Amino acid sequence: MTDELVSAVRFGHGFDAHRFAQGRPFVLGGVRIPYESGPLGHSDADVLAHALSDAILGAAALGDLGEHFPDTDPQWKDADSMRLLEACAALVRGQGYELGNVDATVVVQAPRLAPHVPAMRMRLAETLRIELDAVSVKAKTSEGMGYTGDGTGIAAYAVASLVRRSARR
Ligand code: MG
Repeated sequence: MTDELVSAVRFGHGFDAHRFAQGRPFVLGGVRIPYESGPLGHSDADVLAHALSDAILGAAALGDLGEHFPDTDPQWKDADSMRLLEACAALVRGQGYELGNVDATVVVQAPRLAPHVPAMRMRLAETLRIELDAVSVKAKTSEGMGYTGDGTGIAAYAVASLVRRSARR
């Protein structure tokens, strides 16, 4: 690996958490999951899309999702977060980067997410316009501990890699 290529690879990290509320739709990675409650938020509160957006923006040092799409702006009320994620990918591409891969972990006690992971990966790959094998989503519980364990809320962590377009082989 050349020095030039090493310096052209960038990594970003993202985190998001939302509180559950009865009767709210539960959308994760753009996939609607049937459940009695869902994350509360100004947008559709898709924690996975939000953590991934922050990871992608972070890799290019372009701030965070809240800066680009403020939750005080009525324009983003109940917004489809996959459109925001798509916009973040377009933003970094506009800065001369190409997306490498993304990897995320969602932490929640219930519902069970594993059956929905393949659909989430497909939606994310489509939205980010990267290959399916460059998109990883993992579902974990916190074994009943803390706010992700007692049904209070849901959290997601994500990393993303970017490659400067000129250095791509
Ligand atoms: Mg959020």
